[in-house]
Amino acid sequence: MDRWLQDIKVIVFDLDGTLYQDYRFLGRYVYKMLVNTHSKEEIEQYIEYAYRFLEGSQQVKLGFFYDQNFTFYEHDYLKPTNAYDWQGNKQEIKEVNGDLTYVGDPWSIATFIGRKEKISSETMKQAFLEVRSEMLHSDEYISKNEKLADTLRGLKQYKVLMTNTIEPSGKEFVDYLLLDDCFDEYHYDGKKPLGIQKIIKGLFNKGYKGEEILSIGDNPFNELHPVKQVGGHTCFISPYEIADNTEWSKRVHTIDDLDEFLSLFNNNKVFEKMEVSQ
Ligand SMILES: [Mg+2]
Repeated sequence: MDRWLQDIKVIVFDLDGTLYQDYRFLGRYVYKMLVNTHSKEEIEQYIEYAYRFLEGSQQVKLGFFYDQNFTFYEHDYLKPTNAYDWQGNKQEIKEVNGDLTYVGDPWSIATFIGRKEKISSETMKQAFLEVRSEMLHSDEYISKNEKLADTLRGLKQYKVLMTNTIEPSGKEFVDYLLLDDCFDEYHYDGKKPLGIQKIIKGLFNKGYKGEEILSIGDNPFNELHPVKQVGGHTCFISPYEIADNTEWSKRVHTIDDLDEFLSLFNNNKVFEKMEVSQ
């Protein structure tokens, strides 16, 4: 039992990939982006590529950055150490070209493929909304977890939900997952990582300290690094490994793991025992 848990007064949660997990959407998302412009074979190859990327079974994987030429960078604490083309062939590290994009979750793998194939932002947005709608309204539905919702409701900490997903889709997911009365603050279109820095500033203004904040998410760059940088605690959730060697306060793989971890906060007996043993 880690003693730092006793200090946590605020918990910031991500939504997609954190409070529910589904990875079936990735293939459908890639398909919808490419269906009007690419052959069946090309689409199949990109879908396979997307899953290899997610599962970490190729050189270029989750946790890498890419630049505007689609050169990927492996890194050590966010400092580039190796460069590859998108298919994993080693490149020389030249001066980094323009802004870097971090591939931290399955959504960002699909975004990379859309950008590389010059799919219009309108088509990408349409594919995004369709695939999300299917997650709630078709055979591809995601499962709700009432136990997790109960655990969240029971937490005494100040609870903030922040997702980069826009309304209405973000709110629809919150309602579907029975999370509409679980949090003190809800932020949609959160524009993380910058958005989370604003949240932290607001929390500091309310008198909270860095070490009293815990952030939970599946995208380290968006959700964990900004909180770690101010001395906060972090919980990385994903069934997949990520090429980011930063140490998190807690690592969980599934929603059930997360529920078990959060239940520690609601178990007063554990905390009483900890106080005695101090
Ligand atoms: Mg996420």
